Order: sequence, then structure tokens, then C-alpha cells
Amino acid sequence: MKWALIGASDIASTRVIPALRTAGQEVFGVMSANPDRAASYAKENSIDRYTTDLQELLNWPVDAVYISTTNELHASQAIAAAKAHKHILCEKPIAMGIADANSMIHEAKANAVILAANHHIRTSGVHQKIREIVASNRLGDIYLARINHAVALPERLMGWRLESGDKGAGVVLDIVVHNVDTLRAALGSEIIEVTALTASNGLGKNGIEDTANCVFRFANGVLANTIECFLVPYSTSSFEIHGSKGSLVATGVMTQDPTGEIVVTDAAGVHSIEVSDRDNLYVKTIKQFERACRGEGTPLATGSDGFASMQVALAVLQSAAEKRTVSLLEAGKE
Ligand code: NDP
Repeated sequence: MKWALIGASDIASTRVIPALRTAGQEVFGVMSANPDRAASYAKENSIDRYTTDLQELLNWPVDAVYISTTNELHASQAIAAAKAHKHILCEKPIAMGIADANSMIHEAKANAVILAANHHIRTSGVHQKIREIVASNRLGDIYLARINHAVALPERLMGWRLESGDKGAGVVLDIVVHNVDTLRAALGSEIIEVTALTASNGLGKNGIEDTANCVFRFANGVLANTIECFLVPYSTSSFEIHGSKGSLVATGVMTQDPTGEIVVTDAAGVHSIEVSDRDNLYVKTIKQFERACRGEGTPLATGSDGFASMQVALAVLQSAAEKRTVSLLEAGKE
């Protein structure tokens, strides 16, 4: 397929452009709001065309767009792309509000295009294996889950993410969305209650949170908690699931790469689980997206998955701001 990139971003140049090319896709052109940046980004990434105009981009003969602008722009750009009959792979959070996310899903449906969210973590072979283990009932009745996703934010990403509330800054819209998506996919259930605390430990500016601790109640009764931070250089990420017949602990798995190990402990002992699929997460996302555009299956994370992770992240921010538990039962999508 032919792709246009909406946003001259770090994630596009470091991960998605290489993945598109590995997956046999053509990167037709790129858009930046700044003409000099559009030109230099196109040159650095060996892209033949560039523009500063969304309508011009949407007139290009492309099948799909990849949106990786700052978060406040995703919804309007995705809606315009859907109206122009382009399939859409959109970065997370897919929007910054329920109404916008609903409109994106509505327009994609109305124009018969695919809308996917780039929740790469669930595409990892390690996470696929975790889902298989849960689905096989090897852990029995699941009671608890926990994710540690505390990292040191790379210096090159220390811009709008730390200071611009209007662009969707903060660790919640950046990392909590991924953790929520990972939990939903593994547990096969929806979050119905959220209690969260956030903190600003000096990296986030203007009151933007750089640290979070969230507790979730799922509709199936599981209680989960997640920790997120931009200031922790020496933590190893982890995902734990605890049930009546076994406990699963996966380490080094909340990353952009197909890394990590799974250990299951049960009555028979401690078992190291083999994971054969170590394929690139972004390439897998794109290959499945292309199949979905051809009518074969659905994207690995759909627009509805993007809606759900965004909705929970907004509830996390609300819970922290209002110092109370937020129920998601009354809020919904179309
Ligand atoms: P960047 O800061 O690299 O890019 C976002 C926007 O900022 C770009 O569209 C660009 O605007 C502008 N910009 C970037 N670099 C410069 C610069 N040097 N000078 C001036 N403007 C600049 O953001 P990220 O790549 O980190 O994130 C983009 C989106 O992707 C976000 O929604 C984020 O949540 C998501 N993301 C997803 C990841 C994943 O693995 N799924 C990982 C990282 C981010 P313009 O296009 O107008 O030039």
C-alpha cells in the first residue's frame, strides 16, 4: 500500500518508517506544519514528497495515513482522512476526549475505512503468549494483575510531552494508555472503576504529571494496578497475573521491542515459558493493518481499543484531580 505520514515525528522516523519499509509498504510523502522541517525530515528519511497542507496530502494517491502528530491533532486529522477515504493508523491516545474519539470511529465506519490504534505492546509475541496462557485457564480464576512501566524518558523526547497540557502531555496519556491496552487484551475484560494518584517529581512542568499509580477494577472482577514514571533509569518493566492455579510473572515486556521472559509458578513448580515469536512489533502491526484494509480480519488494536485506553486514561486524570474513584459504567461510545 501507499502511505502518507501526518506528522514529522520521532516515532515515525525511529520505528514506523523502517517498519513500513520492512513490511513492503511505500512511504509516499510526509506532512509537517513547518515547511523547513517538512523538507529536512523528508530528506533525512528518504521520502520523495512533503507538504504543510493536510488537504494536499489527502489528495495524494495513497491508501493509508499514519498519524503521529501531537495528541490534540489526532482526531481532526483522522476525521479528515476518513472523509477522504484513507485508512488510518493513529498514534495513541487516539484523541483527547470522548466526543472526538467517537467521531473518529463514526467517520471511519461511515466511510468504510479501517481505523487502528498503534498500541504496539499487545502485538509482541511475549504478550500473545501471555494471552494464550490466560485463555487456557492455566492460571485458574484470575484475581490480580500488575504492571510496572517506570522508565527514564529519553532526552530527545523531553519537549511537549513534559509541558504542554493542550497537546496532551504527561505520563498518563503517554504510558497509562499502553498499560490499559495491555491489561484489557490479556484479561479480556473492560475497566469499570479507576482510582489513581499522580505526582510531578520535577520533570513535568506546569503541573504536568510525570509519575502515576493507578488501580483498576475490571468487569470480570479482576483488580489491577499499574505504575508509570518518566524518571526511573534502573527499573525492569514487568507484568504479573495471579490466579487460583498459578502466577505468571513476565519481566522486560513493557517495551518497544519483542523482548522479555515469562515465568509461571504453579503446583508443579516454576516453569520458564518459551516464546518463539520475537518479530518486530511495529512490522506486525503494519502487516496486520494491511490485511485488515484488504478485508482480512481486524487490526491488532482497533479504533475501539484506542477509544477504551483513552477513556480510561482520562478517568485516571479525573480520579487524580478530584481525589476520588471514577466509574466508567455510565460513560460509553456509540
Ligand atoms: P515528536 O515530538 O517527535 O513529534 C510530534 C510533533 O512534534 C511532530 O509531528 C512535529 O510537528 C513536532 N516536532 C517533532 N520534532 C520536532 C523538532 N525537532 N522541531 C520542531 N517540531 C518538532 O513526538 P513523538 O514521536 O514522541 O510522539 C508522536 C505521537 O506518537 C504521540 O501521539 C505519541 O503519544 C505517540 N507515540 C507512540 C509510540 C508508540 O510506540 N506507539 C511511541 C512514541 C510516541 P510537525 O509534524 O508539524 O513537524
